[in-house]
Amino acid sequence: MDAEITIFDKIVSGQIKANIVYQDDQCLAFHDVNPQAPVHILLIPKQRNGLTQLSKAQEHNKEILGHLLFTVTKIVELVDELKKGFRIVINDGENGGQSVWHLHIHIIGGEQLTWPPGSSGSQKK
Ligand code: 5GP
Repeated sequence: MDAEITIFDKIVSGQIKANIVYQDDQCLAFHDVNPQAPVHILLIPKQRNGLTQLSKAQEHNKEILGHLLFTVTKIVELVDELKKGFRIVINDGENGGQSVWHLHIHIIGGEQLTWPPGSSGSQKK
């Protein structure tokens, strides 16, 4: 899974079109093709650099991880519907529901979000 090209590499290279919200030299944000809320943006590092998923992060990824979180604030400045609040989600691995093996932050908002998210209800007592 590690060296495989993903759909996000193709979005970064322009091979697959995406509705881009923001980009700089290190990261790219675009609307999710299958939105789970009125606003659903994905924020990714342009270079995967081993970050197939958050749990694979290493020392050399620390700067981009900080950059991605800081970039969330820039995206909120650009997207009015996020100004009343939003949620960020990083799905990790099989149990986390991850389907694309290139680290990405979901930025979800544009309405009142519910909590808790996505458990099957089998939580420990
Ligand atoms: P995950 O399930 O890995 O946390 O999230 C992957 C996300 O990528 C999903 O929300 C899915 O809708 C989105 N996605 C998959 N393929 C494409 C695509 O070709 N374009 C865009 N914009 N989003 C995609």
